[in-house]
Amino acid sequence: MSKIFDVIIVGAGSAGLAALREVKKRTRNFVLINDGPWGTICARVGCMPSKLLIEAANAFHRRGTFEEFGIRGADNLALDLAAVLRRVRRLRDDFVASTLKATDALGECAVSGRARLLGVGRLEVNGRELQARNIIIATGSHPVVPASWRVPDKQLLTTDTLFEQETLPPRMAVVGLGPIGVEMAQAISRLGVNVTAFGCGTTIAGLSDPQISSVALDLLGREFPVYPGGRAYLDVVSEGVRVRAGTMEVAVDRVLVALGRRPNIDGLGLERLGIELDEQGLPFVNPHTMQVADLPVFMAGDANDQIPLLHEAADGGYIAGINATRSAPTHFARRTPLAITFADPNIAIIGSRFQALDGKKILTGEVRFEHQGRARAGQRNSGILHLYAEPESGRLLGAEMCAPAGEHMAHLLALAIGRSLTVRDLLRLPFYHPVLEEGLRTALRDLAAQLPACEESDLAACDAFNAEALD
Ligand SMILES: Cc1cc2nc3c(=O)[nH]c(=O)nc-3n(C[C@H](O)[C@H](O)[C@H](O)COP(=O)(O)OP(=O)(O)OC[C@H]3O[C@@H](n4cnc5c(N)ncnc54)[C@H](O)[C@@H]3O)c2cc1C
Repeated sequence: MSKIFDVIIVGAGSAGLAALREVKKRTRNFVLINDGPWGTICARVGCMPSKLLIEAANAFHRRGTFEEFGIRGADNLALDLAAVLRRVRRLRDDFVASTLKATDALGECAVSGRARLLGVGRLEVNGRELQARNIIIATGSHPVVPASWRVPDKQLLTTDTLFEQETLPPRMAVVGLGPIGVEMAQAISRLGVNVTAFGCGTTIAGLSDPQISSVALDLLGREFPVYPGGRAYLDVVSEGVRVRAGTMEVAVDRVLVALGRRPNIDGLGLERLGIELDEQGLPFVNPHTMQVADLPVFMAGDANDQIPLLHEAADGGYIAGINATRSAPTHFARRTPLAITFADPNIAIIGSRFQALDGKKILTGEVRFEHQGRARAGQRNSGILHLYAEPESGRLLGAEMCAPAGEHMAHLLALAIGRSLTVRDLLRLPFYHPVLEEGLRTALRDLAAQLPACEESDLAACDAFNAEALD
């Protein structure tokens, strides 16, 4: 009889590697299978190279504030786009190398090849059948490109190919205004490319609060033309690619497609598990156990199409790794939802989304950053933040924002929501002066003013001073 592994992990991305860490603690009888390059999507073509590009773009963009600061000569600064992209790849290669340390020493336990399920506990890779007591599917996702777009590959980029470019052309369209589209459109524009962006949703960057989305859209629209809400069509024309959406039409050299990502499940053989699949071809996956139906099969990371974010993929892999080595699965509580789009100002969604609360009785506290003291000092005074709270208790439920240093406030808010803190609990915190978090305090005070009056002092219950330097 052929060998039966305790666990087979399919996919060596962030979810697969988190699963591997847990599996290795409990058994040596496992195999990790990965198709294509090793080194994770995050490090190779995702989180890390995109943030490297954004950092360079924002550093160059900052020159627009120099004159006002009294720094002369900004007009003489020039951007070497090829050097920017070389740096992206150089640092990216370092990040990839560090993820490879997790798999380089695995020897025969690591197999390169495309796995295909043959049934529960059975799969095929490189023409060989392997059997396992448990299988973890962590196959990730790929960018969606409409099949009807008949545009040559060299004119159509995705984030799989963007960071490999030696340079970028003068005119680009970005189609899709989810988190990745928004981040890349702004970065590419700030790097000097003439960008036109198209979105097809009612809001952008995953926001669900229409007011926050509209501020974000307005701020982006001051940097480059943005056309939300229309389905885009592409044609090849003599001067490049023509992008049409509604009444808008633009000719560009290349198009970055950012229309979302689809789980890598095509040809994976999920139908051979003998369970119901939804219209996307996905099975039910319990988000607390990562178990597929009641089978000894677990599915984590982008592959299960639940929350396509790095820390969630790692958590899912961790849960799957533990449960695939236990006789009965443990249910794990998931973390407070937290999603950040690294636009400038940062866009973030924490806890319950506005859309999920809409229609329920909630209070909304608001701050706008135009007059916030520290934001003005740094010429970063734009954006808006909404906090959502329960009307009676004042418990914080969620937040959406497009705000300077939003990525940090988002973490503070995730902590508060995770700990079920109330508006008054938060107002008891010290707020150092002058910091951007004082803007957050303004939104908390806005909420406190709507809550039932309370005798208790929190030392922060005074009215605003109506002086920018103090509020
Ligand atoms: C441009 C971009 C920017 C992003 N920025 C952020 C960010 O700032 N913050 C954040 O939290 N998230 C971000 N993400 C999302 C994050 O990168 C993903 O959620 C995460 O990397 C998913 O990890 P994973 O393990 O599910 O998949 P992956 O890392 O894609 O790993 C899956 C692996 O499985 C392999 N595979 C597929 N099919 C098979 C098969 N049949 N057999 C064997 N192997 C197979 C794949 O080749 C791949 O190596 C970004 C994504 C992109 C694309």
